[in-house]
Amino acid sequence: MHSLTLRTASRFEMTDITDRINGMIGENGIVSGIAVMFVPHTTAAVTINENADPDVPRDILASLDRAIPLKDRYLHDEGNSAAHVKASLVGSSEIVLIEGGRLALGTWQSVFFCEFDGPRTRQIWIKLAGTS
Ligand code: ZN
Repeated sequence: MHSLTLRTASRFEMTDITDRINGMIGENGIVSGIAVMFVPHTTAAVTINENADPDVPRDILASLDRAIPLKDRYLHDEGNSAAHVKASLVGSSEIVLIEGGRLALGTWQSVFFCEFDGPRTRQIWIKLAGTS
């Protein structure tokens, strides 16, 4: 298993980690296979979406914030229930095929780490499997 460490800078953010994963695939000499990416946190997530227009991740974060407000009738007394709910909705893992030594993503797709309760130091665990 590999891991990436990210230091997030704000409360909510989406960070494109595609290049870092592709670098890891290259270092490990995998040409064809699969990459499993798992976020071991309860207030962060991973998703795949558009990388071309930075307004897309901004809209995703703003829409999640409207749907799941910071303050509501939450029971969890740590004060970050909205982040827990967002993390469950977005999800803690993605599986992507590897072809030609890199993630096989659509033209406009990137893999984004999603911070919902930053700033924090975060991990992404990655398993690469395949043939060289
Ligand atoms: Zn909490």
